[in-house]
Order: sequence, then structure tokens, then C-alpha cells
Amino acid sequence: MNNKIKVMKFGGTSVGAPDRMRQVANLIQADNQPKIVVLSALSGTTNSLVAIGDSWKAMKTNEVAQQIQRLYNHYQRFLKGLLTTEYSSGQAVVDLHFDQIKKLTAVSYNRSSNRELLAQGELMSTKLFSLYLKEISVKAELVPALDLVSLDEDGEPEIELMGERLKPIIASHPDCHLFITQGYICRNHLGEIDNLKRGGSDYTASLLGAAIEASSIEIWTDIDGMHNNDPRIVPDTFPLEALSFNEAAELAYFGAKILHPNTIWPAQKYDIPVRLLNTMVPEAKGTTISSTKTSGSIKAIAAKDSIIAIKIKSSRMLLAYGFMRKVFEIFEQFKVPIDMITTSEVAVSLTIDDDEHLTALVTALEGYGEVAVDKNMSIVCIVGDLISEEIGLIKKALRSIGDQPVRMISYGGSRNNISILVPTSTKKEVLLSLNQGLFQAEQVPAGD
Ligand code: ADP
Ligand code: ASP
Ligand code: MG
Repeated sequence: MNNKIKVMKFGGTSVGAPDRMRQVANLIQADNQPKIVVLSALSGTTNSLVAIGDSWKAMKTNEVAQQIQRLYNHYQRFLKGLLTTEYSSGQAVVDLHFDQIKKLTAVSYNRSSNRELLAQGELMSTKLFSLYLKEISVKAELVPALDLVSLDEDGEPEIELMGERLKPIIASHPDCHLFITQGYICRNHLGEIDNLKRGGSDYTASLLGAAIEASSIEIWTDIDGMHNNDPRIVPDTFPLEALSFNEAAELAYFGAKILHPNTIWPAQKYDIPVRLLNTMVPEAKGTTISSTKTSGSIKAIAAKDSIIAIKIKSSRMLLAYGFMRKVFEIFEQFKVPIDMITTSEVAVSLTIDDDEHLTALVTALEGYGEVAVDKNMSIVCIVGDLISEEIGLIKKALRSIGDQPVRMISYGGSRNNISILVPTSTKKEVLLSLNQGLFQAEQVPAGD
């Protein structure tokens, strides 16, 4: 029996209704293995807090008040459905955090206070869940993520420090098997409240899993694992039983919303399997992500939107061996990561997913050549153990896409990925055609 700690993360829909929270309480008690339980905010809460922050920034005072009241009413209903003997304590928790929300938004907007506003969702969900566990006499410790999860000056997680903070807490509660903490929220190098970006609770789970070298990291959500295509767009997708870390990392990075883009690397670094499971159907197999390579085939397709393509055409490219370095240095200077890259003799095309520094980037790049920018693009990414299918794959993929316009193609960067850049307006069509060509065509029985 493995007595190492397991991490279980439950997303917004998994805690978004009183019955769901009760189901989470059942799932974490299924066996005696010690567990770190990471919770998101109730579904819809972070979206509402983001909207409150936007109205606050725009100084729309009445709207802020109305939005806060609507969210407060939602929590009143939730409390009534969840708690009985601990109801008044739950009411006190909700009131405390809504007072904080009102206090924060009563003064002028700033980014640091906005991050504190965004943290209120996870702070409330974990406290309410802890009260529910108390009500049903289940022993658990609430460990504040703000005392555990931290980022350095570069925004990188301090995994070792997290382990040094968490291990003594666990050791000091030998009779406790359940440690509850918040996903998403953390402290930055200034000690301020910060977060791991939208969907970041998955990342919290893998960081804490890595920090304590957990036996596994379970991501419990509202679907039975990683599907072969985006189920919000493509009908008849199916769950994948196994993925390698590399394949899962590519899918998460290139848009499969089920996983925050950074979830995989901490698990991969410490070789901890990640399981994607369905809170509503806990007996479903889900997806296991591990270092085990699965046999060569195309596994899945994902798409990432809001991509910007930048083409830099150098008239002096021929023999100008310093050109690439200069281009990359500019991206480094603005700390803007590049997703895709393709080159020709006279030009290089790159993609980025963040327009914060776009104007400055373009101005700097214009020093080296003619620059053209295309916005509203999507990267469609085909993932699998592709090398063994090398010969037929490109042909199959391109044939499936048919006449759709393609702005860039990248293949060979890794054995797990082929990326195609298309206008977002055609993304749905491209996903459907690829699904048909790569996953369904083979299932059609041959003629005779
Ligand atoms: P949670 O709130 O539990 O973190 P998310 O909404 O962040 O859940 O992620 C789960 C959702 O991801 C699913 O409901 C599904 O619509 C979406 N999704 C997008 N692409 C995929 C995919 N390839 N496989 C499974 N789910 C996906
Ligand atoms: N609550 C945060 C969000 O909605 C983090 C998460 O759910 O993973 O983005
Ligand atoms: Mg999520």
C-alpha cells in the first residue's frame, strides 16, 4: 500500500453546487491515503470577479455594486443548500469575503488590489468546504495556499520552497489525512497576493504534487478525461486512456482547456503520473498521463486562439547570419514567448499569444526589416507519437484541411506535434475536417 501523499484537484463545476461539494467530500474519503485537496472557486465566481474588476477599473460604481450583489445572492443560495449546523459560520465566511470585496472596490483601482479581489473565490470555496467537512465530522486541515505557493522575480514557481513549507505542516498532523488548500492563488516575489492565471488550479495541483513528490496528481473535472478533439466544437469526441507527458503538455499548451498550459512540466520533472477524472462519473477510466510512451499514432487535436502572426522580411537576409539572433533578442527583451516559427531565405514568421507589447515589438523589429502583423489567428495542433506515421501524416492532415487557407505550418520541432496556423474564422471548419480525415475516415469500411 502506497502511503505517499496524493494530490486531488477539483475544478469549478466539481464544487459549483452543494451536491457536487458533497460528492467531493465522498471522493476524498474513498481510502485512507493522505491527500492534498486543491479546490477551485465555485464555477462562475472567477468570471464574476473578473467582471467586477473590469467595472471597477472603468469606474462604473453602480455596476460594481450590482455585480457584487448578484454574486452575494448566489452564495446565499449555495450556503442554504450546503450547510445546516455550520450555516451561521458559513454566513460569517461569506460576509467576511464580500466585505473585503466591497472594501477593495471602494477605493481607486490598482492591479495589486484587483489580484486580491480575484483571490476571494478560492478563499471562500475552501472555507465553505472545510465547514461542510466539520459538519459531517470529517477531520481535515485547511492550509492557506498563500502560505505555500510562491513565485520568484521571474514569475517562476519556487517548488523546493513549497516542499519545505508543506512537509512540516503535514508532519505536524500525523492523525490527519486530508489537507485542503486553494488552487490558483499564490504570492509573488513582493509578497503580494497573485495568481497562476486563469485555470491555474491545475497548475497549483501539479506544483504541490512536485513539491511533496506525491504518488499521483488527480485532476477531477466535468468530463471523463482528455478527448481527442475539443468537445465544445467537435461532436462525437472520445476520451484517451493514456498520453505521454510530452503529448499532454503539447495539448495543454495548444489549447485543450481541460488542463492549464503549465500543468504538465512539474509532474514530468518529478515523474508523477497525472490522472484526469470525472467528478460526476468517478468510475470512468479517465486519462492517465505518464512517462510511458504509447504506440505511434495521432492522438488528439487542440486549438489555441488569439494568436498573432508576425512576419519579418529582411532584404539583407542572404548570408546575414546575425539576423535570427537579433530577432530573437527583441522577443527576449520584452519577455514574449514565441509559439511557432517558420523561415524562408528572406523572411521569418513567428507567432505570439499576447499583444501586451505588440506595438513596441513591431517598432523594434522594424529596425531589421519589413514587418507584417496578422491578428485573430488560431494554432491548430495535431498531437501524438507522430514519427512512426511520418510518411502518411502530412499528406493525411493537408488532404483533410482541403481548401482552407493555411498561414503557417510547423512540423519536426518535436516528434509529438504538427502545428497549423489558420484564421480563427476558419478554425471550426478545420477542426471538423481534421477530425473527419484523421479519426473517422479509417472507421469507414472499405468498398469491397
Ligand atoms: P474545471 O473547472 O474542472 O477546471 P475546465 O472547464 O477548466 O474544468 O476544463 C474542462 C473542460 O475542458 C471540459 O468541460 C471541456 O469542455 C473542455 N475541453 C476542451 N478541450 C478538451 C479536450 N480535448 N478534452 C476534454 N475536455 C476539453
Ligand atoms: N478559479 C480560477 C479560474 O476560474 C482557477 C481555476 O478554476 O482553475 O480561472
Ligand atoms: Mg480548468
